[in-house]
Amino acid sequence: MKKRQLVIIGSGPAGLAAAIYAGRSELDGLLLEKLSPGGQVLITDRVDNYPGFPDGVTGFDLVDKMAAHAKKFGIEQKNGEVISIDPTEDCLKIALAGDEDIYTETVIIATGATHRSLGVKGEKELSGRGVSYCATCDGPFFRDQVVAVVGGGDSAVQEALFLTKFASKVYLIHRRDELRATKVLQKKAFDNPSIEIVWDSVVDEITGTDGVEGISLRNTKTDKPSRIDVQGVFIFVGIQPNTGFVKGLVDMDEQGFIKTDEWMRTSQKGVYAAGDCRQKPLLQIVTAVSDGATAAFAIEHDLS
Ligand code: NAP
Repeated sequence: MKKRQLVIIGSGPAGLAAAIYAGRSELDGLLLEKLSPGGQVLITDRVDNYPGFPDGVTGFDLVDKMAAHAKKFGIEQKNGEVISIDPTEDCLKIALAGDEDIYTETVIIATGATHRSLGVKGEKELSGRGVSYCATCDGPFFRDQVVAVVGGGDSAVQEALFLTKFASKVYLIHRRDELRATKVLQKKAFDNPSIEIVWDSVVDEITGTDGVEGISLRNTKTDKPSRIDVQGVFIFVGIQPNTGFVKGLVDMDEQGFIKTDEWMRTSQKGVYAAGDCRQKPLLQIVTAVSDGATAAFAIEHDLS
């Protein structure tokens, strides 16, 4: 039975940074990815706050460079979906869907997070027919049309700004009277004549038959209902960590984010977590990269 020193699960910025550091430390590592490298960054139109790119960089280009960098340091890569991780007597067993088990001394969970849905009537039914969670992917379909973006965080505001490149008008629907997004993004949204912010409002229903035709709103202060005609609805109401496969193995918070110490060690010996799946105050590419580097460093230290 071959036993590896390290398996990294997930190849977004956290996993790729871990792979670079592990490769340079000559650890016997394997990088596992379900589909292709990138994670959430791939669907980010423009990254404006990653150091070294004063003019911004597309999510695709940034991740492409990180993947090439990881490859250069020689870590082995493989496609595979992890079903579970189980401690054995002297190591960890990783079970893959439709493939052989992998044995390893340590694991870095860098599986990131995915979008949350609103859970309102019409959302599921019209998904892919006007309801979207990715402005980069679907924005160009809404040229000269009216769309709504739901949410008030960085994602919602950033993607609303991106959508103004195509849509004739973008309604930004937020449930409070103040945005959560960083001030620089807020200012850009306030200054953009194509964006109209609908404050204190939640979506009750997304309506339409073959495609989205409108949204029914409710004012959170007055309870007054209203309706806006739109052809597209983009939902950015936060993220949930992809950690279901390690539930019960490592300590998590109530939302499923994995708890670690500052070396990225979880409550389970040999298991580390890095990036957006980890409980921390700032979910950014730069902190994901930092987590990945720290986890690989911790493993080199702990193994020796
Ligand atoms: P987020 O910061 O958690 O914001 C979620 C937004 O959705 C909040 O405004 C929240 O309202 C609203 N919301 C949540 N549930 C809702 C519901 N059921 N109905 C209506 N609105 C709802 O999530 P995010 O914007 O996806 O960002 C996730 C993380 O990635 C953050 O740490 C963010 O800073 C980071 N990020 C950074 C960048 C960047 O740096 N450029 C870009 C994208 C994301 P409340 O405000 O009322 O809670």
